[in-house]
Amino acid sequence: MSRLKELTGIYEKGSTHWVGDGFNVRNLFPSNGLEQEVSPFLMLDYAGPTVFGPGAPRGVGEHPHRGFETVTIAYQGSIAHRDSAGHSGVIRPGDVQWMTAASGVVHEEKQEPEFARTGGTLEMVQLWVNLPKAYKMSPPRYQNLVREQIPVIEMDRGTLRVVAGEHGGVRGPAGTFTPVSVFDLRLEAGGRVALDLPDGFNTSLVLLHGNVLLNGSHALEGEARIAVFDPKGERVDVEARGDSSLLVLSGEPIREPVASYGPFVMNTQQELRQAVDDYRAGKMGHL
Ligand code: MN
Repeated sequence: MSRLKELTGIYEKGSTHWVGDGFNVRNLFPSNGLEQEVSPFLMLDYAGPTVFGPGAPRGVGEHPHRGFETVTIAYQGSIAHRDSAGHSGVIRPGDVQWMTAASGVVHEEKQEPEFARTGGTLEMVQLWVNLPKAYKMSPPRYQNLVREQIPVIEMDRGTLRVVAGEHGGVRGPAGTFTPVSVFDLRLEAGGRVALDLPDGFNTSLVLLHGNVLLNGSHALEGEARIAVFDPKGERVDVEARGDSSLLVLSGEPIREPVASYGPFVMNTQQELRQAVDDYRAGKMGHL
């Protein structure tokens, strides 16, 4: 019999702010002081749901990243992406963009022009995944995972989409540098799932909205909340009391020093200074 990972805390959003003029986000970490407990994940912003009237594409203009990966998960509305290496694309509802910034990328993230023209509801998540020292300066990479590529495990009154990692023998399409599981879990009232997650992996459940019971005894309810579990154990039980949308995050912790400065996440202050210098010198390119 697998052991339950014990719940260690439930947190509300730690901060609310706009990213550029397009993303009205509720930050779940690190603003809650969660760092070690969520490694290898660094940051999670839940944007929206925000209703935009018709207008010019809003978003965040040219900016760099180095030393980690940005994962953008679109729920409602579409985001257009463009970068210094000449890549561009659109992230539509159900799609996931897994971008490895690694040695450095300069990009912009904006509402897709047609979405902006008509207006509508934007709901998305941006998750930052750390890279171990050995990969922080590797070449940038993009994985544009469209909805059709992401396997769906159908359950009684629910679905689990495996974006990264593996569940019940189903593997997600995202290539990762360290073992990471990311699942998009939707449950209707009465739906339940026993999440199968490796022993020793940091594990958290982000409730976008809904009402669930965790491990048979802890209520997680409302919007933009995160439940954090002890790494020990192999299972988390989730039972929905209302229609619920959750993001399951689990991963092997990266046990290295973390030095961060805005869009750069390295191991040392010296590497951060180098990142700033390299960006200013144009070594990460420009749009
Ligand atoms: Mn960015």
